[in-house]
Amino acid sequence: MNRPVRVRFAPSPTGPLHIGGVRTALYNYLFARRMGGTMILRIEDTDRTRFVPGAEEYINEALAWLGIGIDEGVREGGAYGPYKQSERRDIYRRYVKRLLDAGKAYIAFDTPAELEAKRGEIANFQYDASTRNTMRNSLTMPSDEVQRLIETGTQYVVRFKIEPDRDIVVHDLIRGDVSINSNILDDKVLYKSADDLPTYHLANIVDDHLMEVSHVIRGEEWLPSAPLHVLLYEAFGWQDTMPAWVHLPLLLKPDGKGKLSKRDGDRLGFPVFPLDWIDPETGDRSSGYREAGYLPEAVINFLALLGWNPGDDRELMTIDELVEAFSFDHCSKKGAKFDFEKGKWFNHEYISAMSDVDLATRFAATPRGEQCVAERGPDYLTSAVSLVKTRVNLIGELWEQIRFFYEAPVTYAEKDIRKRWKPDTPAILTALIEVLQGIEPFTAATGEPIVLEWIKNNEYHLGNVMNAFRLTVVGECKGPHMFDIIEVLGRDETISRLQRGIDTITLPQ
Ligand code: GLU
Repeated sequence: MNRPVRVRFAPSPTGPLHIGGVRTALYNYLFARRMGGTMILRIEDTDRTRFVPGAEEYINEALAWLGIGIDEGVREGGAYGPYKQSERRDIYRRYVKRLLDAGKAYIAFDTPAELEAKRGEIANFQYDASTRNTMRNSLTMPSDEVQRLIETGTQYVVRFKIEPDRDIVVHDLIRGDVSINSNILDDKVLYKSADDLPTYHLANIVDDHLMEVSHVIRGEEWLPSAPLHVLLYEAFGWQDTMPAWVHLPLLLKPDGKGKLSKRDGDRLGFPVFPLDWIDPETGDRSSGYREAGYLPEAVINFLALLGWNPGDDRELMTIDELVEAFSFDHCSKKGAKFDFEKGKWFNHEYISAMSDVDLATRFAATPRGEQCVAERGPDYLTSAVSLVKTRVNLIGELWEQIRFFYEAPVTYAEKDIRKRWKPDTPAILTALIEVLQGIEPFTAATGEPIVLEWIKNNEYHLGNVMNAFRLTVVGECKGPHMFDIIEVLGRDETISRLQRGIDTITLPQ
Protein backbone atom coordinates (compact mmCIF):
# COMPACT_ATOMS: atom_id res chain seq x y z
CA MET A 1 0.00 0.00 0.00
CA ASN A 2 1.41 3.34 -1.01
CA ARG A 3 0.75 6.20 1.27
CA PRO A 4 2.69 9.28 2.23
CA VAL A 5 5.50 8.62 4.65
CA ARG A 6 4.68 10.15 8.01
CA VAL A 7 6.82 9.28 11.00
CA ARG A 8 6.79 10.50 14.54
CA PHE A 9 9.23 10.84 17.36
CA ALA A 10 7.11 10.47 20.48
CA PRO A 11 9.13 11.11 23.62
CA SER A 12 7.64 11.24 27.09
CA PRO A 13 8.83 14.29 29.03
CA THR A 14 10.04 12.25 31.98
CA GLY A 15 13.58 13.63 32.12
CA PRO A 16 16.40 14.56 29.80
CA LEU A 17 16.33 12.89 26.41
CA HIS A 18 18.80 10.01 26.53
CA ILE A 19 21.27 9.58 23.68
CA GLY A 20 19.36 6.45 22.61
CA GLY A 21 16.24 8.60 22.24
CA VAL A 22 18.23 11.03 20.16
CA ARG A 23 19.22 8.20 17.85
CA THR A 24 15.56 7.21 17.52
CA ALA A 25 14.70 10.80 16.59
CA LEU A 26 17.56 10.83 14.11
CA TYR A 27 16.48 7.63 12.34
CA ASN A 28 12.95 8.95 12.07
CA TYR A 29 14.31 12.15 10.63
CA LEU A 30 16.66 10.44 8.16
CA PHE A 31 13.89 8.16 6.96
CA ALA A 32 11.40 11.02 6.60
CA ARG A 33 13.90 13.06 4.57
CA ARG A 34 14.92 10.07 2.47
CA MET A 35 11.32 9.38 1.54
CA GLY A 36 10.25 12.99 1.16
CA GLY A 37 7.94 12.41 4.11
CA THR A 38 6.87 14.26 7.24
CA MET A 39 8.51 14.21 10.64
CA ILE A 40 6.18 14.69 13.59
CA LEU A 41 7.19 15.45 17.17
CA ARG A 42 4.50 14.25 19.57
CA ILE A 43 4.80 14.80 23.28
CA GLU A 44 3.47 11.78 25.17
CA ASP A 45 2.70 13.22 28.55
CA THR A 46 -0.27 11.18 29.72
CA ASP A 47 1.60 9.70 32.66
CA ARG A 48 1.34 12.67 34.98
CA THR A 49 3.20 10.90 37.77
CA ARG A 50 6.36 10.79 35.69
CA PHE A 51 6.13 14.31 34.28
CA VAL A 52 9.32 16.34 34.80
CA PRO A 53 9.29 20.12 34.37
CA GLY A 54 11.71 21.34 31.74
CA ALA A 55 11.93 18.01 29.94
CA GLU A 56 9.88 19.12 26.93
CA GLU A 57 11.97 22.27 26.50
CA TYR A 58 15.06 20.12 26.77
CA ILE A 59 13.84 17.85 23.98
CA ASN A 60 13.16 20.82 21.72
CA GLU A 61 16.50 22.39 22.44
CA ALA A 62 18.41 19.16 21.90
CA LEU A 63 16.76 18.45 18.55
CA ALA A 64 17.32 22.03 17.43
CA TRP A 65 20.99 21.91 18.43
CA LEU A 66 21.46 18.72 16.43
CA GLY A 67 19.59 20.05 13.42
CA ILE A 68 16.91 17.35 13.57
CA GLY A 69 14.14 19.35 11.96
CA ILE A 70 10.50 18.84 12.85
CA ASP A 71 7.70 19.39 10.35
CA GLU A 72 4.70 19.04 12.64
CA GLY A 73 4.67 19.42 16.38
CA VAL A 74 3.69 21.43 19.41
CA ARG A 75 5.71 24.44 18.31
CA GLU A 76 5.53 23.89 14.58
CA GLY A 77 1.79 23.29 14.45
CA GLY A 78 0.20 21.18 11.71
CA ALA A 79 -3.10 19.82 10.53
CA TYR A 80 -3.20 16.89 12.95
CA GLY A 81 -2.82 18.69 16.28
CA PRO A 82 -2.79 19.12 19.13
CA TYR A 83 0.57 17.37 19.27
CA LYS A 84 0.68 17.11 23.03
CA GLN A 85 -1.29 14.21 24.42
CA SER A 86 -2.47 15.95 27.57
CA GLU A 87 -4.37 18.29 25.24
CA ARG A 88 -6.17 15.43 23.50
CA ARG A 89 -8.29 14.09 26.35
CA ASP A 90 -11.57 14.52 24.49
CA ILE A 91 -10.29 12.53 21.57
CA TYR A 92 -9.15 9.63 23.75
CA ARG A 93 -12.41 9.59 25.70
CA ARG A 94 -14.27 9.06 22.41
CA TYR A 95 -12.08 6.15 21.43
CA VAL A 96 -12.26 4.51 24.83
CA LYS A 97 -16.05 4.68 24.53
CA ARG A 98 -15.87 3.15 21.11
CA LEU A 99 -14.03 0.10 22.40
CA LEU A 100 -16.42 -0.21 25.34
CA ASP A 101 -19.47 0.02 23.09
CA ALA A 102 -18.05 -2.63 20.80
CA GLY A 103 -17.38 -4.95 23.74
CA LYS A 104 -13.64 -4.88 23.08
CA ALA A 105 -12.88 -3.29 26.41
CA TYR A 106 -14.49 -3.33 29.83
CA ILE A 107 -14.60 -1.34 33.03
CA ALA A 108 -12.79 -2.68 36.09
CA PHE A 109 -13.11 -1.52 39.70
CA ASP A 110 -10.51 -3.71 41.37
CA THR A 111 -8.54 -1.59 43.79
CA PRO A 112 -4.77 -1.82 44.04
CA ALA A 113 -5.24 -3.68 47.36
CA GLU A 114 -7.58 -6.20 45.75
CA LEU A 115 -5.16 -6.80 42.91
CA GLU A 116 -2.36 -7.24 45.40
CA ALA A 117 -4.43 -9.81 47.32
CA LYS A 118 -5.06 -11.74 44.10
CA ARG A 119 -1.38 -11.81 43.35
CA GLY A 120 -0.80 -13.31 46.76
CA GLU A 121 -3.49 -15.91 46.19
CA ILE A 122 -2.63 -17.01 42.64
CA ALA A 123 0.95 -17.58 41.53
CA ASN A 124 1.84 -15.54 38.41
CA PHE A 125 -1.53 -13.88 38.47
CA GLN A 126 -2.40 -12.11 35.25
CA TYR A 127 -5.58 -10.14 34.58
CA ASP A 128 -6.71 -11.93 31.42
CA ALA A 129 -9.30 -14.26 29.89
CA SER A 130 -8.58 -16.91 32.51
CA THR A 131 -9.10 -14.60 35.50
CA ARG A 132 -11.22 -11.65 34.45
CA ASN A 133 -14.43 -13.52 35.30
CA THR A 134 -13.36 -13.68 38.92
CA MET A 135 -12.68 -9.95 39.22
CA ARG A 136 -14.79 -6.88 39.90
CA ASN A 137 -15.56 -5.55 36.47
CA SER A 138 -18.35 -4.79 34.03
CA LEU A 139 -18.19 -8.36 32.74
CA THR A 140 -19.02 -9.85 36.12
CA MET A 141 -21.20 -7.16 37.70
CA PRO A 142 -24.77 -6.18 36.83
CA SER A 143 -24.85 -3.13 34.62
CA ASP A 144 -26.93 -0.99 37.01
CA GLU A 145 -24.32 -1.62 39.69
CA VAL A 146 -21.55 -0.57 37.29
CA GLN A 147 -23.54 2.54 36.42
CA ARG A 148 -24.12 3.37 40.07
CA LEU A 149 -20.45 3.03 40.96
CA ILE A 150 -19.41 5.29 38.09
CA GLU A 151 -22.04 7.88 38.99
CA THR A 152 -20.99 7.94 42.60
CA GLY A 153 -17.44 8.67 41.58
CA THR A 154 -15.83 5.30 42.22
CA GLN A 155 -12.54 5.14 40.47
CA TYR A 156 -12.14 2.63 37.69
CA VAL A 157 -9.96 1.67 34.79
CA VAL A 158 -10.82 0.51 31.31
CA ARG A 159 -9.12 -2.71 30.30
CA PHE A 160 -8.55 -4.13 26.86
CA LYS A 161 -10.31 -7.47 26.44
CA ILE A 162 -7.63 -9.58 24.87
CA GLU A 163 -8.81 -12.71 23.10
CA PRO A 164 -6.96 -15.78 24.35
CA ASP A 165 -4.78 -18.07 22.30
CA ARG A 166 -4.30 -15.97 19.23
CA ASP A 167 -1.03 -15.80 17.37
CA ILE A 168 -0.18 -12.20 16.77
CA VAL A 169 2.37 -11.31 14.15
CA VAL A 170 4.28 -8.06 14.16
CA HIS A 171 5.83 -7.35 10.77
CA ASP A 172 9.00 -5.54 11.62
CA LEU A 173 11.14 -4.04 8.87
CA ILE A 174 14.36 -4.88 10.70
CA ARG A 175 13.43 -8.07 12.51
CA GLY A 176 11.07 -9.69 10.05
CA ASP A 177 7.91 -11.31 11.42
CA VAL A 178 7.84 -11.52 15.18
CA SER A 179 5.10 -13.80 16.44
CA ILE A 180 3.69 -14.16 19.94
CA ASN A 181 0.67 -15.82 21.46
CA SER A 182 -1.94 -13.57 23.07
CA ASN A 183 -2.02 -15.78 26.17
CA ILE A 184 1.09 -14.07 27.46
CA LEU A 185 -0.60 -10.66 27.34
CA ASP A 186 -2.70 -9.28 30.14
CA ASP A 187 -5.80 -7.15 29.72
CA LYS A 188 -3.90 -3.90 29.58
CA VAL A 189 -5.28 -0.81 31.25
CA LEU A 190 -6.17 1.69 28.53
CA TYR A 191 -7.70 4.45 30.57
CA LYS A 192 -7.83 5.60 34.19
CA SER A 193 -10.79 7.53 35.53
CA ALA A 194 -8.63 8.93 38.31
CA ASP A 195 -6.86 11.39 36.01
CA ASP A 196 -9.27 11.09 33.08
CA LEU A 197 -6.39 10.15 30.85
CA PRO A 198 -5.59 7.16 28.70
CA THR A 199 -2.46 5.11 29.25
CA TYR A 200 0.45 5.15 26.86
CA HIS A 201 -0.88 2.26 24.76
CA LEU A 202 -4.25 3.72 23.88
CA ALA A 203 -3.04 7.26 23.34
CA ASN A 204 -0.13 6.06 21.26
CA ILE A 205 -2.27 3.96 18.91
CA VAL A 206 -5.11 6.45 18.56
CA ASP A 207 -2.63 9.17 17.74
CA ASP A 208 -0.62 7.09 15.31
CA HIS A 209 -3.84 6.34 13.51
CA LEU A 210 -5.25 9.87 13.55
CA MET A 211 -1.91 11.38 12.59
CA GLU A 212 -1.71 8.89 9.73
CA VAL A 213 1.64 7.57 10.82
CA SER A 214 3.02 5.22 8.19
CA HIS A 215 6.09 3.90 10.04
CA VAL A 216 6.55 3.52 13.76
CA ILE A 217 10.30 3.76 14.32
CA ARG A 218 11.27 3.34 17.95
CA GLY A 219 13.67 1.64 20.32
CA GLU A 220 13.74 -2.09 20.80
CA GLU A 221 12.39 -1.70 24.32
CA TRP A 222 8.96 -1.11 22.74
CA LEU A 223 8.93 -4.37 20.82
CA PRO A 224 7.06 -6.17 23.64
CA SER A 225 4.27 -3.59 23.31
CA ALA A 226 3.94 -4.06 19.58
CA PRO A 227 1.62 -7.15 19.63
CA LEU A 228 -0.77 -5.24 21.86
CA HIS A 229 -0.61 -2.31 19.46
CA VAL A 230 -1.39 -4.60 16.55
CA LEU A 231 -4.43 -5.89 18.46
CA LEU A 232 -5.58 -2.36 19.19
CA TYR A 233 -5.37 -1.43 15.51
CA GLU A 234 -7.52 -4.46 14.78
CA ALA A 235 -9.98 -3.73 17.57
CA PHE A 236 -10.63 -0.32 16.07
CA GLY A 237 -10.91 -1.83 12.59
CA TRP A 238 -7.87 0.08 11.36
CA GLN A 239 -5.79 -2.87 10.20
CA ASP A 240 -5.60 -1.46 6.67
CA THR A 241 -3.70 1.57 7.86
CA MET A 242 -1.51 -0.21 10.35
CA PRO A 243 1.94 1.38 10.28
CA ALA A 244 5.06 -0.57 9.42
CA TRP A 245 6.93 -1.42 12.61
CA VAL A 246 10.60 -0.70 13.02
CA HIS A 247 12.29 -1.53 16.31
CA LEU A 248 15.82 -0.19 16.46
CA PRO A 249 18.62 -2.14 18.11
CA LEU A 250 19.56 -1.32 21.68
CA LEU A 251 22.50 0.85 22.51
CA LEU A 252 24.83 -1.28 24.60
CA LYS A 253 27.50 -0.41 27.12
CA PRO A 254 30.95 0.08 25.56
CA ASP A 255 31.93 -3.47 26.51
CA GLY A 256 28.74 -4.82 24.99
CA LYS A 257 27.49 -6.18 28.32
CA GLY A 258 23.99 -4.86 28.82
CA LYS A 259 22.06 -1.75 27.96
CA LEU A 260 23.78 1.64 28.03
CA SER A 261 22.62 3.52 31.08
CA LYS A 262 22.94 6.97 32.52
CA ARG A 263 25.31 5.63 35.12
CA ASP A 264 27.72 4.31 32.49
CA GLY A 265 28.30 7.87 31.39
CA ASP A 266 29.12 8.98 34.92
CA ARG A 267 31.22 5.89 35.55
CA LEU A 268 33.21 5.91 32.34
CA GLY A 269 33.38 9.65 31.86
CA PHE A 270 31.39 10.39 28.74
CA PRO A 271 28.05 12.08 28.19
CA VAL A 272 24.92 10.03 27.53
CA PHE A 273 22.79 13.12 27.02
CA PRO A 274 22.82 15.63 24.18
CA LEU A 275 22.87 18.70 26.45
CA ASP A 276 23.71 19.32 30.06
CA TRP A 277 20.77 18.59 32.33
CA ILE A 278 20.23 19.72 35.86
CA ASP A 279 17.78 17.56 37.73
CA PRO A 280 15.11 19.95 38.99
CA GLU A 281 14.68 17.97 42.19
CA THR A 282 18.18 16.99 43.23
CA GLY A 283 20.15 19.69 41.42
CA ASP A 284 22.47 16.97 40.06
CA ARG A 285 24.11 17.79 36.77
CA SER A 286 24.41 15.25 33.96
CA SER A 287 26.81 16.26 31.25
CA GLY A 288 25.81 16.68 27.63
CA TYR A 289 27.63 16.49 24.33
CA ARG A 290 27.12 20.14 23.56
CA GLU A 291 28.76 21.41 26.72
CA ALA A 292 31.47 18.75 26.54
CA GLY A 293 32.68 20.32 23.31
CA TYR A 294 31.13 18.18 20.60
CA LEU A 295 29.97 19.46 17.27
CA PRO A 296 26.38 18.56 16.44
CA GLU A 297 27.43 17.29 13.00
CA ALA A 298 29.87 14.88 14.63
CA VAL A 299 27.27 13.62 17.12
CA ILE A 300 24.82 13.05 14.27
CA ASN A 301 27.37 11.15 12.22
CA PHE A 302 28.42 9.04 15.22
CA LEU A 303 24.84 8.20 16.23
CA ALA A 304 23.76 7.40 12.69
CA LEU A 305 26.33 4.62 12.56
CA LEU A 306 25.29 3.07 15.87
CA GLY A 307 23.05 0.35 14.50
CA TRP A 308 23.12 1.26 10.83
CA ASN A 309 25.69 1.39 8.04
CA PRO A 310 25.54 2.84 4.55
CA GLY A 311 26.27 -0.53 2.94
CA ASP A 312 29.87 0.42 2.20
CA ASP A 313 32.78 1.39 4.39
CA ARG A 314 32.13 5.11 4.52
CA GLU A 315 32.26 6.59 8.00
CA LEU A 316 32.47 10.35 7.66
CA MET A 317 29.16 11.42 6.20
CA THR A 318 27.30 14.69 6.14
CA ILE A 319 23.66 14.72 7.08
CA ASP A 320 22.74 14.93 3.38
CA GLU A 321 24.84 11.88 2.63
CA LEU A 322 23.22 10.05 5.52
CA VAL A 323 19.76 10.90 4.20
CA GLU A 324 20.75 9.77 0.75
CA ALA A 325 22.02 6.39 1.97
CA PHE A 326 19.47 5.68 4.69
CA SER A 327 17.27 2.60 4.65
CA PHE A 328 16.27 -0.07 7.13
CA ASP A 329 18.01 -2.73 5.07
CA HIS A 330 21.28 -1.88 6.69
CA CYS A 331 19.99 -1.57 10.23
CA SER A 332 21.23 -4.33 12.49
CA LYS A 333 19.13 -6.46 14.79
CA LYS A 334 22.01 -6.81 17.18
CA GLY A 335 22.57 -4.21 19.85
CA ALA A 336 25.11 -1.54 18.97
CA LYS A 337 28.06 -1.04 21.30
CA PHE A 338 28.40 2.53 22.39
CA ASP A 339 31.97 3.07 21.27
CA PHE A 340 32.68 6.36 22.92
CA GLU A 341 36.25 6.60 21.62
CA LYS A 342 34.79 6.47 18.16
CA GLY A 343 32.58 9.39 19.07
CA LYS A 344 35.67 11.36 19.99
CA TRP A 345 37.31 10.35 16.75
CA PHE A 346 34.34 11.68 14.79
CA ASN A 347 34.55 14.95 16.64
CA HIS A 348 38.28 15.17 15.96
CA GLU A 349 37.66 14.66 12.27
CA TYR A 350 34.92 17.26 12.14
CA ILE A 351 36.97 19.82 14.04
CA SER A 352 39.96 19.24 11.77
CA ALA A 353 37.81 19.70 8.71
CA MET A 354 36.17 22.93 9.87
CA SER A 355 37.24 26.27 8.48
CA ASP A 356 39.43 28.26 10.85
CA VAL A 357 36.86 31.02 11.12
CA ASP A 358 34.01 28.62 11.88
CA LEU A 359 36.02 26.82 14.51
CA ALA A 360 37.11 30.07 16.14
CA THR A 361 33.49 31.21 16.12
CA ARG A 362 32.34 28.02 17.86
CA PHE A 363 35.07 28.32 20.44
CA ALA A 364 34.25 32.01 20.90
CA ALA A 365 30.79 30.93 22.05
CA THR A 366 32.30 29.24 25.14
CA PRO A 367 33.18 31.36 28.19
CA ARG A 368 36.90 30.86 27.65
CA GLY A 369 36.63 31.64 23.95
CA GLU A 370 34.69 34.78 24.73
CA GLN A 371 37.53 35.91 26.95
CA CYS A 372 40.06 35.24 24.18
CA VAL A 373 38.12 37.44 21.77
CA ALA A 374 37.83 40.17 24.39
CA GLU A 375 41.61 40.10 24.91
CA ARG A 376 43.02 39.91 21.40
CA GLY A 377 40.12 40.10 18.96
CA PRO A 378 38.63 37.48 16.65
CA ASP A 379 41.36 37.41 13.99
CA TYR A 380 44.09 36.58 16.46
CA LEU A 381 41.92 33.77 17.83
CA THR A 382 41.31 32.44 14.33
CA SER A 383 45.04 32.39 13.62
CA ALA A 384 45.82 30.67 16.90
CA VAL A 385 43.07 28.07 16.41
CA SER A 386 44.16 27.37 12.83
CA LEU A 387 47.51 26.10 14.08
CA VAL A 388 46.18 23.59 16.59
CA LYS A 389 42.88 22.37 15.22
CA THR A 390 44.15 18.93 14.26
CA ARG A 391 45.42 18.42 17.81
CA VAL A 392 42.11 18.36 19.68
CA ASN A 393 39.12 16.05 20.03
CA LEU A 394 36.85 18.50 21.81
CA ILE A 395 36.22 22.21 21.43
CA GLY A 396 37.12 22.71 25.07
CA GLU A 397 40.57 21.21 24.54
CA LEU A 398 41.44 24.14 22.29
CA TRP A 399 42.25 26.34 25.24
CA GLU A 400 45.04 24.10 26.51
CA GLN A 401 46.53 24.18 23.02
CA ILE A 402 46.32 27.92 22.40
CA ARG A 403 46.90 29.10 25.92
CA PHE A 404 50.49 30.19 25.24
CA PHE A 405 49.21 32.59 22.57
CA TYR A 406 47.49 34.46 25.39
CA GLU A 407 49.80 33.87 28.32
CA ALA A 408 53.55 34.22 27.99
CA PRO A 409 55.30 31.43 29.88
CA VAL A 410 56.55 32.26 33.36
CA THR A 411 57.92 28.82 34.08
CA TYR A 412 59.73 26.48 31.74
CA ALA A 413 59.58 22.72 31.52
CA GLU A 414 62.54 21.41 33.42
CA LYS A 415 63.09 18.30 31.38
CA ASP A 416 63.27 20.41 28.23
CA ILE A 417 65.77 22.77 29.87
CA ARG A 418 67.95 19.81 30.76
CA LYS A 419 67.82 18.51 27.26
CA ARG A 420 68.10 21.71 25.21
CA TRP A 421 69.57 24.53 27.26
CA LYS A 422 73.35 24.57 26.78
CA PRO A 423 75.96 26.96 28.21
CA ASP A 424 76.06 28.89 24.92
CA THR A 425 72.27 29.06 24.49
CA PRO A 426 71.78 32.55 25.98
CA ALA A 427 74.37 34.02 23.63
CA ILE A 428 72.90 32.27 20.60
CA LEU A 429 69.37 33.38 21.43
CA THR A 430 70.60 36.93 21.96
CA ALA A 431 72.01 36.80 18.47
CA LEU A 432 68.73 35.33 17.26
CA ILE A 433 66.90 38.39 18.54
CA GLU A 434 68.98 40.47 16.22
CA VAL A 435 68.19 38.20 13.31
CA LEU A 436 64.47 38.46 14.08
CA GLN A 437 64.72 42.27 14.13
CA GLY A 438 65.78 42.19 10.52
CA ILE A 439 62.94 40.01 9.18
CA GLU A 440 60.58 41.99 7.03
CA PRO A 441 57.67 41.26 6.85
CA PHE A 442 57.60 39.27 10.08
CA THR A 443 55.98 36.13 8.67
CA ALA A 444 56.71 32.43 8.75
CA ALA A 445 57.43 32.37 5.04
CA THR A 446 60.02 35.14 5.20
CA GLY A 447 61.46 34.31 8.59
CA GLU A 448 61.97 30.59 8.30
CA PRO A 449 64.61 30.54 5.53
CA ILE A 450 66.50 33.45 7.10
CA VAL A 451 66.72 31.82 10.52
CA LEU A 452 67.59 28.40 9.15
CA GLU A 453 70.29 29.92 6.96
CA TRP A 454 71.72 31.78 9.96
CA ILE A 455 71.82 28.56 12.01
CA LYS A 456 73.53 26.74 9.20
CA ASN A 457 76.11 29.41 8.53
CA ASN A 458 77.02 29.53 12.19
CA GLU A 459 77.09 25.76 12.42
CA TYR A 460 74.74 25.78 15.38
CA HIS A 461 72.91 22.64 16.42
CA LEU A 462 69.55 23.03 14.68
CA GLY A 463 67.55 20.98 17.20
CA ASN A 464 69.02 22.63 20.23
CA VAL A 465 68.61 26.18 18.97
CA MET A 466 65.08 25.75 17.70
CA ASN A 467 63.98 23.93 20.84
CA ALA A 468 65.54 26.47 23.15
CA PHE A 469 63.78 29.14 21.11
CA ARG A 470 60.53 27.23 21.49
CA LEU A 471 61.09 26.80 25.19
CA THR A 472 61.27 30.57 25.70
CA VAL A 473 58.20 31.23 23.59
CA VAL A 474 55.91 28.33 24.54
CA GLY A 475 57.34 27.25 27.90
CA GLU A 476 57.88 23.68 26.75
CA CYS A 477 59.04 21.83 23.70
CA LYS A 478 55.75 21.18 22.06
CA GLY A 479 53.15 22.89 19.93
CA PRO A 480 52.73 23.73 16.28
CA HIS A 481 55.39 24.81 13.81
CA MET A 482 57.65 27.40 15.44
CA PHE A 483 57.63 29.91 12.61
CA ASP A 484 53.84 29.80 12.41
CA ILE A 485 53.71 30.51 16.11
CA ILE A 486 55.92 33.58 15.93
CA GLU A 487 54.03 34.97 12.99
CA VAL A 488 50.85 34.90 15.08
CA LEU A 489 52.56 36.30 18.18
CA GLY A 490 54.29 39.06 16.24
CA ARG A 491 57.82 40.34 16.49
CA ASP A 492 57.59 42.29 19.75
CA GLU A 493 55.98 39.53 21.73
CA THR A 494 58.37 36.92 20.32
CA ILE A 495 61.40 38.98 21.21
CA SER A 496 60.14 39.84 24.66
CA ARG A 497 59.59 36.15 25.39
CA LEU A 498 63.04 35.29 24.10
CA GLN A 499 64.55 37.96 26.29
CA ARG A 500 62.68 36.78 29.34
CA GLY A 501 63.87 33.23 28.70
CA ILE A 502 67.46 34.36 28.30
CA ASP A 503 67.23 36.34 31.53
CA THR A 504 65.50 33.76 33.68
CA ILE A 505 66.27 30.25 32.49
CA THR A 506 69.16 28.77 34.37
CA LEU A 507 70.84 25.47 33.84
CA PRO A 508 69.73 22.99 36.46
CA GLN A 509 72.51 22.00 38.83
N1 GLU B 1 6.33 7.70 24.62
C1 GLU B 1 7.13 6.56 24.25
C2 GLU B 1 8.56 6.85 24.63
O1 GLU B 1 8.76 7.61 25.52
C3 GLU B 1 6.96 6.33 22.77
C4 GLU B 1 7.23 4.97 22.29
C5 GLU B 1 6.81 4.89 20.85
O2 GLU B 1 7.53 5.53 20.04
O3 GLU B 1 5.80 4.26 20.53
O4 GLU B 1 9.52 6.39 24.09
